This record gives sequence, structure tokens and C-alpha cells, in this order.
Amino acid sequence: MENTASTPVSHADLRKRIAPFRVKPRAVVRLGDDSKDFDPGYRDQFVTRADAGLALAEGVRQLGEYQARLAAQSTYAVLVILQAMDAAGKDGTIKHVLSGVNPQGVTVHPFKVPSLIELQHDYLWRYQLQLPERGSIGIFNRSHYEEVLVVRVHPELLGNEHLPGAQTDIWKRRFREINDWERYLADNGVRIVKLFLNLSKQEQRRRFLDRIDEPDKNWKFNVADALERERWDDYQHAYEEVLSATSTKYAPWHVVPADHKWFARLAASWIILDALMDIDPKYPKVDPQTRAKMLEIKERLLAEGRHRE
Ligand code: AMP
Ligand code: MG
Repeated sequence: MENTASTPVSHADLRKRIAPFRVKPRAVVRLGDDSKDFDPGYRDQFVTRADAGLALAEGVRQLGEYQARLAAQSTYAVLVILQAMDAAGKDGTIKHVLSGVNPQGVTVHPFKVPSLIELQHDYLWRYQLQLPERGSIGIFNRSHYEEVLVVRVHPELLGNEHLPGAQTDIWKRRFREINDWERYLADNGVRIVKLFLNLSKQEQRRRFLDRIDEPDKNWKFNVADALERERWDDYQHAYEEVLSATSTKYAPWHVVPADHKWFARLAASWIILDALMDIDPKYPKVDPQTRAKMLEIKERLLAEGRHRE
């Protein structure tokens, strides 16, 4: 396909392009080298960053247009959930993909280690507090899924959560609770878009080396990240279980190939755009009475102008 800046991508085309990333409900997901379904190096028909540049610019432009209508309609909110291993490109994806939207219509929340106050509440509390309002797009940079990812890989963290009694089958239960919560949100006008940026272990190694070698990138490197890398297989397993158990019809997961940053950004823009196209928000029409009033005011404004001239 030729990429020309002026060709907006159609909804049908978008659907086709993002279909390989979507996780079917109850699918058994395998990640890593033995994955048949998800290749971190995938880049559709694009070969280089430059190839994808125009397509990304067009996606970003369309996102801005749909977001303006989403805000005017003020009925639905879009919640984008971003999960990934360290150095997969979450921050860069947010920066690029949202570069065309009105900042007033977007909120971004990075979730860190929970505070003492947050730990005094049920585990979904702090996420509920940061949900986007109707008409806006909210980005969760990490999310409630950390509760079945980092906490699963480090179950000793559960000891900080003040949970009542014995917690049997805790992960299965949390999957159910998360699905129930997301269903409630979806039923009430929150469109949920879940993105897992799928990075390979070799590419993470390259990016860590880069962060160590380039002084301006040193700040991005965290000694703790290297320790988490040692638990790579445990994290991949935790992600596989999350993707299998919590990809639902109302809140599906997408496994976004992330070894090429530019492709991850393009794919993320497509997936979010698809959600907005599904909503298809419309500018509200005023009722006939208000419209008649407007025309009256228009007459007066015109008369004012004539009077002055
Ligand atoms: P970063 O996104 O690189 O700034 O790091 C945020 C850190 O907070 C990561 O190491 C996450 O694993 C950690 N984190 C986020 N949410 C939770 C949570 N619910 N429980 C424990 N750690 C968390
Ligand atoms: Mg980090």
C-alpha cells in the first residue's frame, strides 16, 4: 500500500490491521520465542521508520478529530491501559500517539508502588479514583494489572496489602474481580482499550545497554530494572495468564509488537482509533427552540454591526 499523508485510514482497513494483535477471549496465550501468535519484531508491510511516518501522522491527526467529537458528545470515556516490561516504550508511545489531541481532553496517570494510604484501601480503589470523565481519554501508564503481575512475581508484596484472612486462589479471584469491574465500567460508558507492548528479551538488553552507554539516558536506567530482568520468565508467564484470563469481549487485550518503537506507536494509534471509530461520537445537535433563539441573537448581532457602520 502506498502511504500518502492525505489518505485517512478507513475503519475496515484498521480492523484488518489490528486483528492479529487482539487476544480472543479465553485464548491460551504464549509469549516469547515459542509464541506462534505474537512476534515482537512484526511490522506489517512497513520496513523502516520513515515508511511508517506518514501513516502515524495520519493516525495521530484522525485521533485528534475523533477526540474533539468525543469531548463534544460527552457520553463515553476512553480508558487506555498500557502494560509492558521495562524499556518497552510506554512513555514514548504516550508522547507520540497523543501528540495530536487537545491536552484538555486527556489525562495520563503513571501508577507507581502504592503509597501507605493506598494500601489502606481495597486494591482497585486508586485506579477507580483516576478514571477519565465522560468525553475524555484517560491513559493508565501501568494499571490495576500490576496487582496480578508485579505482585504475582513478588507475592511477598501481598503482606503490605492488609488483606483479610487467608487468600485462597487469589490470582484466579483477582482475574474475576478485574473482569467484573471492567464489565461494570464498559456497561456505564467507559470504553476500555488494553495494550501490552510486547518486547523481546534481546531488545530489552539492547535498550538497557543504550541507557547505560548514553549519559543523557542514564536517568532512565534503574538498578532495580536489572533485577526485574532476572525474573523475565516469571513475568512472561504472569503476562500469559493475564492475557488469557482477562481478554474479554467488552475489554479485549492487544499484544502490540514493540521491538520497533515506531511500529508500536503506529499500532497503538490504530487500536485507539478503532475504539473511537466504534464509538463514532457525534457533535450534539441543538433542539429547535435553542436553534430559533440562536437565530434571533444572530439577527441582533447583525443589526448591531449595521448600526455601527
Ligand atoms: P516505572 O513505571 O518504571 O516508573 O516504575 C513504577 C514501578 O512501580 C514499577 O516497578 C512497578 O512494578 C511498580 N508498581 C506499580 N504498581 C504497583 C503495585 N500495584 N504494586 C507494587 N508495585 C507496583
Ligand atoms: Mg522503570
